[in-house]
Amino acid sequence: MTTLDTTPAPTPVPALAAPAPAPAPAPAADPLSVWPASTAEPRQGDIEVGGVPLAECAERFGTPVYVLDENEVRDRCRGYRAAFPEAEVLYAAKAFLCRAVAHWIEEEGLGLDVCSAGELELAVTTGFPPDRITLHGNAKSPRDLETALRLGVGRIVIDSPSEIARLAAAVGPDGRQKVMVRVVPGISAGGHAKIRTGTDDQKFGMSISDGYAQHAIVRILDQPQLELTGLHCHLGSQVTSVRPYLAAVRRLVGLMATLRRQHGLLLPELDLGGGHGIAYRPGDPVLDVAALARRVRAELASACAAAGLPVPRLVLEPGRAITGPAGVAVYRVLAVKRTGGQVFVAVDGGMSDNPRPALYGVRYAPRLTGRHSAAASAPVTVVGRHCEAGDVLAADVPLPADVRPGDLLALPVAGAYHLSMASGYNLVGRPPVVAVRDARARLLVRRESLDDIRGRDVGL
Ligand SMILES: *Cc1c(COP(=O)(O)O)cnc(C)c1O
Repeated sequence: MTTLDTTPAPTPVPALAAPAPAPAPAPAADPLSVWPASTAEPRQGDIEVGGVPLAECAERFGTPVYVLDENEVRDRCRGYRAAFPEAEVLYAAKAFLCRAVAHWIEEEGLGLDVCSAGELELAVTTGFPPDRITLHGNAKSPRDLETALRLGVGRIVIDSPSEIARLAAAVGPDGRQKVMVRVVPGISAGGHAKIRTGTDDQKFGMSISDGYAQHAIVRILDQPQLELTGLHCHLGSQVTSVRPYLAAVRRLVGLMATLRRQHGLLLPELDLGGGHGIAYRPGDPVLDVAALARRVRAELASACAAAGLPVPRLVLEPGRAITGPAGVAVYRVLAVKRTGGQVFVAVDGGMSDNPRPALYGVRYAPRLTGRHSAAASAPVTVVGRHCEAGDVLAADVPLPADVRPGDLLALPVAGAYHLSMASGYNLVGRPPVVAVRDARARLLVRRESLDDIRGRDVGL
């Protein structure tokens, strides 16, 4: 973090070319490093994504608006397929799903990982092949399982012992369903306690260390309708080191070796889940996907060789690494206030479209767009419009000192776990999603209107 001078500059300072102060601070990360690759600033202060000025999207679709760079999503899919040509890559739909995204994922050759009948049915009814879909969930409802079986989902990941008999009964004596087992490898990884799912003290999966997982697997083998294809684990989210994945490979191959020895079982698949960390602010650590591919491949080969096992087919489930950096949220400033020694810049969205700051304490790096400001930067706190003090999008970030109501703020890395977690708080209505590509913008999801909200409100 550089220290910012809060006194107004007497002369205009170009937005991205401030002279280096002495003594020189650590080199600042490129402010555009967390933006989609297509991001450009053809005129100072006018940010374009996918060839479309963000200010034009705001004008045309209103604010707040979520802008999704289609080519960035597709390129990220291609990047995974190139890094892991031997693996099956499933996009974790919970990060963000709409019909267009389902098409892009399908066209790029990825599969899909879903957690509910809703995600599953949206994908299948828009043409996504059900056999390329995996259903997860620590508590699948009867409707989730019924929908999965009716639509012919590829695999169901069993998360608890009570699911086994239930699923076998639902499949029926003549049916057959591929399943995996979610195991807990006992590895702590992930960017925040609320998104760590690889340890024994959280609700997902069945533990290897206490024998729960092995016990469940034996019960699955007793059900001829259930075809066990492999082990699954998901360590958590925002993992920025390769090492926990290598540890997971060793633990899971160890369990596979035990199952081979004790039950003569050979499992053809190994699913390492997702959680690949991305940068939300310039300079944040990220998971190196190329290094992950190289080292997981090597670890899997050596662990399997040592155990005398054939190498299973790898399955991966990135979510935010596919859509997160492809999205930009554009807000309009409604109020600027100086209080308690801080400058608060309040925008027309916040925790109802992006609950991540309130849930995990994350912070973003917004930028002014739509006009050029010659004012020097000064630190401000960007807050939302909702009735909670925790509705903070960015703390102590530099914005031009003349930021004022009516300005547009663009917040990058908004493509995952924003709208998919959006709420109806304060009845402001959820923002629209606009795809940009080749200098064209098109509406994917329209803004939620008061009529939409009123339409569900049927009692008096
Ligand atoms: C959430 C989740 C993912 C995706 O996590 P990201 O952090 O978005 O990559 C993958 N697999 C499972 C089982 C998940 O629950």
